Amino acid sequence: MTPEEKKRRKFIQQISGLGVLGLATVGGILGGPYLKAADLRLRPPGAIPEDEFIGLCIKCGQCLQVCPYDTIKLEDIDGKAGVGMAYIEPRERGCYLCKAFPCILACPSGALDHEHDSIEFVHMGIAIIHNPDACLAKIGEPVPDSAINRIYDHTKVLTDEEYESHKVTIRSDDPEKVELHKTLLKKLEQHRGEKICTICADMCPFHPDNSLAIGMINIKDGRMLPEIREACNGCGACVELCPTDVIKVIPRKSYSDIYSRKEV
Ligand code: SF4
Ligand code: SF4
Ligand code: SF4
Repeated sequence: MTPEEKKRRKFIQQISGLGVLGLATVGGILGGPYLKAADLRLRPPGAIPEDEFIGLCIKCGQCLQVCPYDTIKLEDIDGKAGVGMAYIEPRERGCYLCKAFPCILACPSGALDHEHDSIEFVHMGIAIIHNPDACLAKIGEPVPDSAINRIYDHTKVLTDEEYESHKVTIRSDDPEKVELHKTLLKKLEQHRGEKICTICADMCPFHPDNSLAIGMINIKDGRMLPEIREACNGCGACVELCPTDVIKVIPRKSYSDIYSRKEV
């Protein structure tokens, strides 16, 4: 293990022990210096630094083929950077941080680093609360049906009947993948009509304890707002699932890049 990897592992161990260390004001996260990073693509887990990734990704699509959530896409001709290269569009489908990171293991070129195939080494970016005034938990509006139904569009394993009825049943083909998608939808279904939305905090796939990555904080009169925490690795699941597009991921940035300790 390289010194940098050791440092990162130690950091995660420290935050696991200490819990939440703080948050920054929304004003503090939206500054100009991060706009360039915001223009970068979110790369799959394990992606090496961007300039090296562009040199090493051979556009083979192996990571895409093994992703059970259909998260990874390949850049098309009109894309932002690197035609044919692997990226994630989190509003369309976030990464769900599979325990064995099959995407990393499938990469034959080293563009996704095989030494980074566990949660403590995966760092894709950092989430920010970019539009807090739209948060349903803040404004006190229940989760609408449309917010849950929208996610049915993101899964490719449903039958027409399931898709139209918004009721999932178990199908026999490709059972592991089907089950993963349906487990996700069933968990999300628990939030349909919820009076105070907690989708982002509840559905965050960071493991073993997602409260290290995100949590809901009380603001006033029972209203709440999500808080991004140090272990967030920018997987983008919260970005996909939020009913009102409150959260964004800044690729390649870390908690310490964005959130200032002096505001703790
Ligand atoms: S960790 Fe899983 S969900 Fe995320 S990109 Fe890799 S294979 Fe897909
Ligand atoms: S998912 Fe989170 S950020 Fe989005 S509306 Fe619900 S509580 Fe607010
Ligand atoms: S808060 Fe959780 S779901 Fe959102 S980007 Fe961070 S790790 Fe992923």
